[in-house]
Amino acid sequence: MRKILTLCFAFNFVSVLFATSVAAAPQLKGGATQGGMLWGKVEPGTSVLLDGNLVDVHESGVFVIGFGRDHIASAELEYRYRGGETDSQTIAIEPREFDIERVNGLPPKTVTPPPEWTARRKIENGRVRSARAVMMPETQWVAGFLKPAEGRFSGYYGSQRILNGEPRSPHYGLDIAADVGTPIWAPAGGVVRLAASDFLLEGGIVIIDHGMGITSTLFHMNSVTVKEGARVEQGDEIGTVGAKGRANGPHVDWRVNWKNVRLDPMLVLEEGK
Ligand SMILES: [Zn+2]
Repeated sequence: MRKILTLCFAFNFVSVLFATSVAAAPQLKGGATQGGMLWGKVEPGTSVLLDGNLVDVHESGVFVIGFGRDHIASAELEYRYRGGETDSQTIAIEPREFDIERVNGLPPKTVTPPPEWTARRKIENGRVRSARAVMMPETQWVAGFLKPAEGRFSGYYGSQRILNGEPRSPHYGLDIAADVGTPIWAPAGGVVRLAASDFLLEGGIVIIDHGMGITSTLFHMNSVTVKEGARVEQGDEIGTVGAKGRANGPHVDWRVNWKNVRLDPMLVLEEGK
């Protein structure tokens, strides 16, 4: 059986989606949009597939999925119930317009990073990847997220600059500008999977695992006051705002991932309200 969901949007954000007919099909919550996180609950024992790939399901039946910045217009969720029946939903993924800035006539410059940088980045990227690869059977994100620091939004998910016609990689964080030393709080509870004070581009960096592949990453921290493996509750102080790494002025760059899919922190923040 197949159902097409009709979604209603307000500011590119879906609060609740209802599957219309079969009782067993789950109600989904979150944002069926580029950068959105969507979660639902099935009867324990049900298998969930997204575009043909198995999705992790918590023992309570809760599962979560996410859509990247450039996700195509639809996704297919399939449910395989314990009794052998199957069901599927086509989810329309709302496309978004991101802020694109074109700058032309810049003097050409070629930057060749020193070889020791390349080696160091390899190690740092490896640590980030392993921190995000953990599958912890918890659902801390169900309680919503809070803004990790008091301050002004100064950079948004999805924005991109095109310099002399060359697209740079998009910005995947939500930047919050604040004075050096402003406390940074855990946006949601979880376990610290990475805590380091001096990454080349990120400066002080913390990755918190909120469960089921959902993580928060915080960059440019001046101080990091949590250790890897520590458990944090939502709102716990984990360090302070800085301008370390590659940053133009003090701010915290907050990122939210579903495994290696980059989500929009603003969407999960709004959902928690
Ligand atoms: Zn940023």
